[in-house]
Amino acid sequence: MTISKKDYRRKFIGAKELKPETQMMSYGYDPMLSEGSLKPPVFMTSTFVFESAEEGKDFFALAYGKRTPKEGEKPGLIYSRINNPNLEVLEDRLAIWEGAEQALTFSSGMAAISTCLWAYLRPGDVIIHSAPIYGGTEFLIRNILPEYGVQSIEFEAGGDRHTLPSVEEATKLGRISVIYAETPANPTNALIDLKACVALADELGEVTGHRPVVMVDNTFLGPLWQKPLELGVDLVIYSLTKYIAGHSDVVAGAVCGNSDRVSPVQGFRTILGTMCDPHTGWLIMRSMETLKLRMTASNQNAALVADYLNNHQKVSKVYYLGYLTEKDASYGVYKDQCLAPGSTFAFDIDGGEEEAFKVLNNLKLIKLAVSLGGTESLIEHPFAMTHADVPDDVKLRQGITPAMIRISVGIEDPEDLIADLDQSLATI
Ligand code: PLP
Repeated sequence: MTISKKDYRRKFIGAKELKPETQMMSYGYDPMLSEGSLKPPVFMTSTFVFESAEEGKDFFALAYGKRTPKEGEKPGLIYSRINNPNLEVLEDRLAIWEGAEQALTFSSGMAAISTCLWAYLRPGDVIIHSAPIYGGTEFLIRNILPEYGVQSIEFEAGGDRHTLPSVEEATKLGRISVIYAETPANPTNALIDLKACVALADELGEVTGHRPVVMVDNTFLGPLWQKPLELGVDLVIYSLTKYIAGHSDVVAGAVCGNSDRVSPVQGFRTILGTMCDPHTGWLIMRSMETLKLRMTASNQNAALVADYLNNHQKVSKVYYLGYLTEKDASYGVYKDQCLAPGSTFAFDIDGGEEEAFKVLNNLKLIKLAVSLGGTESLIEHPFAMTHADVPDDVKLRQGITPAMIRISVGIEDPEDLIADLDQSLATI
């Protein structure tokens, strides 16, 4: 059977809705438009030929919002900073994983984050953000945005709704345009109550007439284990570099949401030029075919590695989400919001930097590297590495100490990983 042009956007067979893991091999790509090639070719082109000047005019009119699209109409191909077939297929498939109307891909997670913030913040505005957050995001908010007249209010992760500012507190500094959360937080896995963030945005909207956009960095749990759009969040942001690309071989980012929220970000992406390139997009499309398998395997491995560490006498604490109990303030949020604990977590060892470095230096299999979510296990020292830019007093307040090590558990044999940790921990 040839796949006809008609059904390459098929979402159902009869009444049966197709699952995302099925759609990753099909959706959005018509082989008959590419010589029957089973897999999409890489469209390594900067620009696209128009059939006529009139067609070119019409494509620009649609792309630049000078006319509204007809039902189901996609913009014509113009120039790879605006659109490209690889990115269109990738974005359609990403939107399926996320249950979103639209997705956009970027040259990095930071490109996605910064483009979203440029799209929604203006001089005099205020961003409310969770803490701790990824060091690059923290730097952007703490050091760069103030130079453009954007101030910030920080709230601590930890699952307690009361850490969010009240409407009165929030509005003291200026107009709130963005509520930004990263949950679970990097590296402590502290949780943010996303429904509480959405409720605050709604309340601010009612009181001030300007509803902030709620953005969530969902990199840690990915579309498999946390679905922020279902909780009312407006924009879900990813470092695709991590679980979604998943092989530690590309850097990319994404934003997903309803088209009315995504559209301003798309306009900024076109002008800032922060889009993903076609070859990277092609690699990520391939990765998404195994996303469920990889995330399921690493999630299972992480439970075993966490248990091993939790029972080790030289490990004082393991920040694994699976260990939350009813006694923890975050437990309700975890049950409500997360579908699994994921496979990146930190642990504290007895001692300080010297002992932590000894453990890191003596590993034989697990790679000493920042980043996370790849097929291979990676390990690092947040205090001295990923969070080096965060002032020490802020880190200590957030529980990021020199005794902390962060591991991203991969898809190796879990007993091999445990054997490696075992011999390394034995050196302290
Ligand atoms: N968000 C989180 C949670 C991260 O861990 C990172 C990078 O480590 C980023 C965003 C930034 O992504 P990228 O390195 O792809 O720019």
